[in-house]
Amino acid sequence: MELWYTQEHSPNVRLSIKVDRHIYSEQSRFQRIDVMESYEFGTFLTLDSQMMVAEKDECIYHDMMVHVPMATHPAIQKVLVIGGGDGGAVRELTRYKSITHIDVVEIDKRVVEVCRHYLPQTASKLDDARVHLYYEDGLRFVRDKEQAYDLILVDSTDPFGPGEGLFTKEFYGNCHKALKEDGILINQHESPYYERNKGSLQKTYERVSAFFPITKFYGACIPTYSSGYWLFGFASKKYDPVRDLKKDQWEALELDTQYYNTAIHKGSFALPNMIKKLFDK
Ligand code: SAM
Repeated sequence: MELWYTQEHSPNVRLSIKVDRHIYSEQSRFQRIDVMESYEFGTFLTLDSQMMVAEKDECIYHDMMVHVPMATHPAIQKVLVIGGGDGGAVRELTRYKSITHIDVVEIDKRVVEVCRHYLPQTASKLDDARVHLYYEDGLRFVRDKEQAYDLILVDSTDPFGPGEGLFTKEFYGNCHKALKEDGILINQHESPYYERNKGSLQKTYERVSAFFPITKFYGACIPTYSSGYWLFGFASKKYDPVRDLKKDQWEALELDTQYYNTAIHKGSFALPNMIKKLFDK
């Protein structure tokens, strides 16, 4: 009998991936965790049946989350990752010798343990000496931090379940406080393609831009995510991601990235008119 994993991308659209083996399943304190092996996308992790990371295309998501701010801000040393228990964002951060300290705040310890076992491709650098793991709610963790970080990455689940608080105005305000004067905040955003997500994109824009003078979105094509068209939020106190891109400085590092390059960086901020229209006041 054939085995298929199916995710609902909208009430009228579903994506199905043929699965070779369902290798792990548990209900943790926070969510249902599943690991499957597929023919097309390799091993992948789902939380509450939502696709999180797949071996074949996770490089797109993690490259865009990490290298865009790293190529914009010239001196990032202290980083906070909220969520990100699969370790993919940390793996990309650890490529930079200039980073001295990485705090990772993951609400669910079981996600880290399961990824260490089944997804070593993403989780292996969680043992880097610069990485400090905290098993807590990210919403609470940032409340008492002031001017502590150069970069905050919100690598969370979508705005329901444990990730819901990470899309609130209170949270963005606390991130602003936790960042240094020239700090950058990146958050993963849902796909804006289907009707039901358009309101949430506008809401995030309003909430983030209430604190950050520079608030932008950038996109990437990620085949396993809803609609394949995914957005990230870029919020900054000082740096504009296109104007201040340090092309030569970043290229001189000679990092062997699978997806990111500085041309993609610039292009990713060019949004289609149908998305731009959503922000017209
Ligand atoms: N790339 C993924 C995506 O966009 O679907 C996100 C991957 S990562 C596995 C998301 C992580 O955020 C999960 O491990 C989840 O446990 C964690 N998370 C959700 N809510 C959180 C919260 N409030 N504080 C800290 N971590 C949280």
